[in-house]
Amino acid sequence: MTAPASSSARFLIVGPQGSGKGTQGVLVAEAFEVPSISTGDVFRENISGATELGGRVQAIVEAGDLVPDELTCELVRDRLEQPDAARGFLLDGFPRNRVQVDDLEDFLASRGEALDAVIELVVPREESIARLRQRAIDQGRTDDTEEVIANRLAIYERETAPILDVYRGRGLVLRIDGVGSLADVTARIFEALATRGLVPAHPVHGAA
Ligand code: ADP
Repeated sequence: MTAPASSSARFLIVGPQGSGKGTQGVLVAEAFEVPSISTGDVFRENISGATELGGRVQAIVEAGDLVPDELTCELVRDRLEQPDAARGFLLDGFPRNRVQVDDLEDFLASRGEALDAVIELVVPREESIARLRQRAIDQGRTDDTEEVIANRLAIYERETAPILDVYRGRGLVLRIDGVGSLADVTARIFEALATRGLVPAHPVHGAA
């Protein structure tokens, strides 16, 4: 007997730069058949497409600073209002500070919704820096220079890591060891979700 699929799947994935949250987030979202929403991807798409939003955020993203909360929160609200996010979503890279946590909370509460889990990917600093250096070579992201990486990690540690305490206080955080093969980490995530009764409708591609 397999457990019934979860009726709602509202997830956050949080971890330092280079923790693999983008890759793992997509796998979780696909399995639960909810959209994977990466604010970083949205900003990068707008920059490369030379949209008005792209023009407004380009210098900020290239410096590794946070885009203003007002802009980011509005963008996320608009995206979560789309019909494909009605049953759930996986947010990657949002919220990133306390203001964004509160904005998301207000938005969900206004819709009678709540988060189901916060997936925390734990990766030591040295490992995360090594992975980002490799990504700089593989992908050529303009924000993967030494200086900008250091800024992004510092902002993560100062502003983003503390939001996990808020979610920990609500019992939402699943702490996952992010070191290991992609498949191993994926398997750990799905095991942890299953302990909360969060089971996808379909077997997971990539999980052991
Ligand atoms: P990483 O986690 O590796 O820094 P992301 O793709 O999540 O990469 O984000 C890239 C950049 O996009 C960030 O450095 C920041 O400039 C901007 N950004 C993404 N998400 C947010 C957010 N929630 N709030 C403010 N800025 C954001």
